[in-house]
Amino acid sequence: MSHQPSDKNVTLVLFHNDLRVADNATLSTAANLSSNGKLLLVYASSLAEGLNDINSDPAYHYDTMGSAREQFLQESLADLNASLTQLGNRLLYLKKDATVPDTLTQLHELIEVQQVTDICVSKTSDYYQNQVYALLQDKHPQIRWHVQTTAMLFDELPLEQLPKSFTQFRKKIENDHDLLHTEEDATISPTPESLAPMPESMADKSECFCDAHQCDLQEVDSFRGGESNGLKHLERYFDSEAPSTYKTTRNALDNWTQSTKLSAWLANGSLSVNTVLNRLRRYERDIIANGSTYWIWFELLWREYFYWYAITLKQKLFWFTGIGQHMPATQLDEERLLQWTRGQTPYPIVNACMNQLNTTGYMSNRGRQLVASCFIHELGLDWRYGAAYFEQHLIDYDVGSNWGNWQYLAGVGADPRGSRQFNLKKQTQQYDPEGAFIRQWQGNIKKSDE
Ligand code: FAD
Repeated sequence: MSHQPSDKNVTLVLFHNDLRVADNATLSTAANLSSNGKLLLVYASSLAEGLNDINSDPAYHYDTMGSAREQFLQESLADLNASLTQLGNRLLYLKKDATVPDTLTQLHELIEVQQVTDICVSKTSDYYQNQVYALLQDKHPQIRWHVQTTAMLFDELPLEQLPKSFTQFRKKIENDHDLLHTEEDATISPTPESLAPMPESMADKSECFCDAHQCDLQEVDSFRGGESNGLKHLERYFDSEAPSTYKTTRNALDNWTQSTKLSAWLANGSLSVNTVLNRLRRYERDIIANGSTYWIWFELLWREYFYWYAITLKQKLFWFTGIGQHMPATQLDEERLLQWTRGQTPYPIVNACMNQLNTTGYMSNRGRQLVASCFIHELGLDWRYGAAYFEQHLIDYDVGSNWGNWQYLAGVGADPRGSRQFNLKKQTQQYDPEGAFIRQWQGNIKKSDE
């Protein structure tokens, strides 16, 4: 529903996984709605925390973030704040602090005190974030809500229902040529030229201003958060020859150009998937379209599949039985869990991957498959604790991709083949034949006497 801009409008954007100004339909909508009024741009951390009554089981959701993930987020917020400041407003950052109420209460207060008329959010597959939106709607029924798609290729699931497997999903999508954007670029939402100011009474609320420190523009191959760094990385990747060999290199355990390394910017929305897709199509038009460039699209479709999977499953995404009927024959064992999280298992390849994750917040797709297989099959652990540990530490944490992939590997998800166990010895020979990766990430080093 569209509403006329009015000078009485106080529009609030609640950022979540849409931390950018380019191709952000949520921000564009808010800019239009507030063109004669006021605009509050808010990021609130840990909004769903404390809503234990709605958490299916809070044991699987850590309160804290790993340091790499936290740093990537702070860099992303700082960059967003810098862009919003250039457009004439700035980011308000509601955070957890012993001296103030929880962030949901802070948000309720802000809405009431500022007499917010409109709230703009991006559609999300995050069950708990959606619960937060429902609570806000209940508490402030007079507010108009505007929900835009900013994270995905498709606004709505372009099929009647989500197929049970990725392959069926992909085939259906690919059979419908219109859905493929091969010749035409995907539509990009215009970046606002300027933004309305925040209400005057916010000017002295400096405790709410985002004070994260903006990092330098990325000059080396590394994960530095923020839209500017994401766009720079996207250009560097597609300016290189790496996309034309992606399919043959993507399974490597390490090496910056082995895969696109776009996941972290995509996950928190510093980059839009349509921007990535358009860049991929340009590469295919200007340089080469081959099996490797097709495979980048193929992986983006996996991301899309897990997004709709999370939307469809809701709480079931976190259930031990997943979409199945049977309890897996695994359980929590604190000691084995610690061995795994600390990289102290009997499997050097797994230890190396876990050390990499703990240090950088990133792990290759192959590494994730190996450590998850070890977790479930070798250590006999309840997969949800592994997924929760990934949630805490991955800089590219995404609710559908993470919990959906864990379900898949645990044999309780969208995998027609049932559970997948990797032979760790064979995998080590194949992917780290010289032991270089294990040496680099100290997979053989015992850190305690246990
Ligand atoms: P590329 O190989 O370059 O792929 C391009 C893009 O496609 C990625 O950036 C990502 O957005 C998407 N993609 C690739 N593989 C997958 C996949 N299997 N599922 C969904 N999307 C995919 N990915 C996340 O983004 N967030 C997660 O929380 C996450 N958790 C995972 C947990 C497990 C147990 C496993 C096995 C995989 C998980 N993945 C997750 C998927 C995948 O490992 C990462 O997306 C990939 O390693 C990121 O590196 P990249 O950007 O270089 O990927």
